[in-house]
Parts: sequence; C-alpha cells; structure tokens
Amino acid sequence: MNILVTGAAGFIGSTYVRMLLSPGGLESSGISRITVLDKLTYAGTLRNLDLADPRLRFVHGDICDASLADELMAEVEQVVHFAAESHVDRSIAAAGEFVRTNVLGTHTLLDAALRHKVNRFVHVSTDEVYGSVEQGSSPETAPLGPNSPYAASKAASDLVALAYHRTHGLDVRVTRCCNNYGPRQFPEKIIPLFITRLLDGEKVPVYGDGQNVRQWMHVEDHCHAVELARANGRSGEVYNISGSTEISNRELTKHLLAACGGDWSQVVYVPDRKGHDRRYSVGGGKARAELGYRPQHDFERSLADTVAWYRDNRAWWQPIKQRACEGLGRGDYRPPLRGALMNHLARAIPADDLVRAVLEGGPPGLPEGLRVQTARRSERKIKIPYHGGYEHFERVSDLPGPAQPGPIIFRWTMRTKIAE
Ligand code: NAD
Repeated sequence: MNILVTGAAGFIGSTYVRMLLSPGGLESSGISRITVLDKLTYAGTLRNLDLADPRLRFVHGDICDASLADELMAEVEQVVHFAAESHVDRSIAAAGEFVRTNVLGTHTLLDAALRHKVNRFVHVSTDEVYGSVEQGSSPETAPLGPNSPYAASKAASDLVALAYHRTHGLDVRVTRCCNNYGPRQFPEKIIPLFITRLLDGEKVPVYGDGQNVRQWMHVEDHCHAVELARANGRSGEVYNISGSTEISNRELTKHLLAACGGDWSQVVYVPDRKGHDRRYSVGGGKARAELGYRPQHDFERSLADTVAWYRDNRAWWQPIKQRACEGLGRGDYRPPLRGALMNHLARAIPADDLVRAVLEGGPPGLPEGLRVQTARRSERKIKIPYHGGYEHFERVSDLPGPAQPGPIIFRWTMRTKIAE
C-alpha cells in the first residue's frame, strides 16, 4: 500500500516517517511506499528525512495546489495529513497563511482524496481547538472554543474534514494531541527555544506570570498514537491524545534549567502573549480504550535526552536559531521582524498564482529537493538559504501555459552571506 504523508519535512511528520521506515516499521503497518508532500516553509527541512531510502519519495509542493493533490492522490490509498502552519505567535502576527494552509489546504486534499477514492484520511489536529479549560479535561465531545488564529484555523480544518465524512462518507479520522517535544523541533517553540538559548548561555523569555498550563508528550508517543488511529481507529471518529505530564510554563522552565545546567538569573518575564489560553487539557480515555494507546516516554528522562540531542546537533539548529522568533510575541528582547519575513508571513497566495520552478546551476552539492521550488507567476528572482548564505537565481524561461506546460526555469546568478 502507498501512503501520502503531508508536512513530513517538519518536526512531527518527519518523526512519523522515520518511525515507519525504522526496522520492521513498514512490514507491521502494511505500507510499502511513502510519498511526502511538503512545501519546505521556514519550518520544514530535508535534513529531517533520509532521501536515499528507496521506499520514500519526496515531492516539493503546496497542499493548496489542487492539480498536484490530484496527481498524488491517484497514486496512494491512504493519507496522513500533518502539514500546517503551526506556531501560535506567527498566527497572531499574521493569520492569512494559517487560514490558507490549514483550512484551504486541508480542503484541497480532502477534495482530491474523495475524487480518487482514497480509503483513509488521518487529519492530525491539536488540543488547542477546545480552547482554555479551567478544570478537568476536554473529552472528544466537548464543544470547540479555539481562541488563537492558529487554533481557529485548525478547528475549521477539523470540521471540514469531519464534514467530508458525514456528507460524502470519506473515511476520516481526526487526532487531537497535546504539546509535543523531542528532537528536530523548530527553535521557535518553547522547549527548543529555551534549550538552544540556555546552551548558548542566553536568557529565556517566560510569558506573563508563567502559570499557563500545558500537557506534554514526546513526539514519538504522538506518532505512535497517530499510527494506531490510522491502522485501528474508526471512520468519522476523533481521538484525543493526552500526555501524562501537565505542568505550568514556570515548572517547565525549572525542568529545562536543571537539564541544561542554567539558573533563574537567566529567566526574564515578558508581557503575556495576546489572548494567551490559561490551560489546555485533553482526556485520553478513548484512545486508551479503543486504540490501546499508552505513552512510553518518561517526561524527565526524555526531556534530558532532548537536551542531549540539541547539544549534539548544533549544526541542525545553529543556522536557524537567530531568526526563529524575531518580531514574534517573545520579541521584547529581540530585534524587530525584518521586512521580508513579515511580508512572507502576511501574504496569502492564491493557489492558481503558484507555479513550479526548477533551479539550475549554483553550488554542485545543492540538494535536488531544493532545486524544485514553488514560485508566484510574477516572481523573477528566487533566493534560498544554503550553508550560511543565500543562493540567488533569476528567471530565464517564460511562464508555463497551454502552449508551454511544465515548470519555469531559474538560473543561478550569485551567492551572498546572510546578514546578521
Ligand atoms: P512544523 O511547523 O514543524 O511542520 C509543518 C510542516 O508542514 C513543515 O515541514 C512545512 O514545510 C509544511 N507545510 C507548511 N505549509 C505547507 C503547505 N502549504 N503545503 C505543504 N507543506 C506545508 O509542525 P509540527 O509541529 O510538526 O506539527 C505537525 C502537525 O501536528 C500540525 O498539523 C500541527 O497542528 C499538529 N500538532 C502539533 C503539535 C505540536 O506540539 N507541535 C501538537 C499537536 C498537534
């Protein structure tokens, strides 16, 4: 069986793919080939995937691209959908890309899945769709009350996915997990942000009074639960995936200071995130009873392992760390967001304005995956970050059209250093 996994150049999706490709993983799942569809936004990197594995195919593209979705759905039996804009602070700075990717992108995939009679569609969602809960834990039947633009876009995509089940009979399964931690998480999220700053002897910013409470789960436990929902779940059902560790950000900070060898003099309290939900908590009884799901990771030990991974893998995060949070909520101690990044966050590009672009020339070692990009029809220049600098390319072919199908060609012009 062939499956499509979206967003698997990111943190959780790539862990899921690595789990399936690990010894015995594919055999026990009945899957023979995995196609990954990922746009390689700031959050996705090919370094998270083993592209040399013949059982894996990487397609660089946008989930909002209906013709690409059609092409890929024709080749697969099942879909596991992780791709999303995922950072709350970015959704507060600019929500357009969240609505576009999370809502329209999910809808585009569902439509294509229906057209091609895909027999299972796992939609990966979040506990944030329930909104803040003062006491107890939200069951799957709790009303949705999302508060941030991120959570609202995820709730909307959940409802569209479930509507495709009710209306069209598509086999949709929705998972709603709590906060994840583990290796390869982009250092804008609290745990990798704090670890990478503490490892560099820098201060860490805690929002408000630090009493916001979250459940935490190791990313491999989450991926195991997603796989159980895909393999053994029921069509049309929602499964909460809850972590056994529920702590405030202040307590989390205490754990991270201990694990990284830091102290409270490195902590600064910054003005609270706008609309910051006080507490998320989901009840995981249904996944335990129906799927036999049990988290395997002990929080303190796995947090220490995560710190060790960041300590041993500086090359993975060092080049992206400085820009990870500029201008976002924890920005009081950061320089303001650069214009280009703000423009990138703010623009919402209609899918029919996007074309595939192929990059020619440039450094010999430039990975093939980076040579296929998504460009706007009007775009004449592209620059991509590579090895601590930017490679610049200029368009040398006409736009594709009925007379001339295919991608637009860009040719390498120069390399510049990333300005700090
Ligand atoms: P991430 O930001 O690390 O990765 C997202 C991936 O999606 C990236 O590789 C990115 O390039 C890709 N992507 C973004 N827009 C795309 C588009 N238009 N087309 C194709 N690919 C696109 O996110 P993550 O933390 O791995 O989260 C994965 C999923 O899990 C998301 O749906 C998120 O809502 C959900 N989730 C995350 C958490 C968490 O703690 N991180 C918790 C619960 C649920």
